[in-house]
Amino acid sequence: MCLGNFDNQRPSGAQVAALDRFVASQMRRYRVPINHVYTHQEINPTACPGRNLQSYMVATRGSQGNMRYALLDAGEIALA
Ligand SMILES: [Zn+2]
Repeated sequence: MCLGNFDNQRPSGAQVAALDRFVASQMRRYRVPINHVYTHQEINPTACPGRNLQSYMVATRGSQGNMRYALLDAGEIALA
């Protein structure tokens, strides 16, 4: 969980680093490809997780994103 109002605040470096590591670990555990990792607002009409965290999530899932590197660091190929 990342606690904050990310419409007003930016997530901290520690928050996004932990988020990337945790999501990558769950992707490996449950064999979820990165193109199946969604934020709340991508599947339901809500402001969650807020514009600053939403923009981070779009970037981290991208081809040069930290989440892909978190997967690579663990010796996994980026799934899809
Ligand atoms: Zn939510």
